[in-house]
Amino acid sequence: MTVSKDLVIPGDFVGYAEEYLSGYGTYDNEGKLYSLITGIVNQNDDEREISIKPIIETPPEIKKDDVVYGRVADLRNNFLVVNLSKVSSSSDREIVRADRGILHISNIKRGYVNQVSDEFNHNDIIKAKVVDKDTVTLSTEDENLGVIIAKCQNCKTRMDVVNGKLHCPQCKRTETKKVSSDYGIGAI
Ligand code: ZN
Repeated sequence: MTVSKDLVIPGDFVGYAEEYLSGYGTYDNEGKLYSLITGIVNQNDDEREISIKPIIETPPEIKKDDVVYGRVADLRNNFLVVNLSKVSSSSDREIVRADRGILHISNIKRGYVNQVSDEFNHNDIIKAKVVDKDTVTLSTEDENLGVIIAKCQNCKTRMDVVNGKLHCPQCKRTETKKVSSDYGIGAI
């Protein structure tokens, strides 16, 4: 049987990988399952699978200047790959497929960036703007763009923003990132 549970947003914890398979709309990060999209948690105890039912079923077209949410899936020398989960523009539309966007080092912020890993970590949830819809090229230059949810690299606690820097309430570490001014609230 399937139990429908809470409404979740990207980055929310939904279950443990040792108990459930990572189904549609979820991802596995070191044994914990998190939601990739906004939707309702479906817990299937027969299949031992947790999936997310998107709130809106129709996949939208990505347009230039759309604001999108996604999870950092891969970091390379000069760019990072983002699994997109939500389009935010005039209406609140969802991407139900996990489309991929590319964020080049030159589009991260104004000024020089030495390497992308100085500004983002794997599995950070970010808010970005589409600058080219055909290649799904993203930018996080604007003040309200960048990391909106980050977990501590050391202890996996969700980090807070203190004086513009990410701060771990658990182990007191600080990370300097391209943090969005919407940190912690941007995914809703
Ligand atoms: Zn920590």
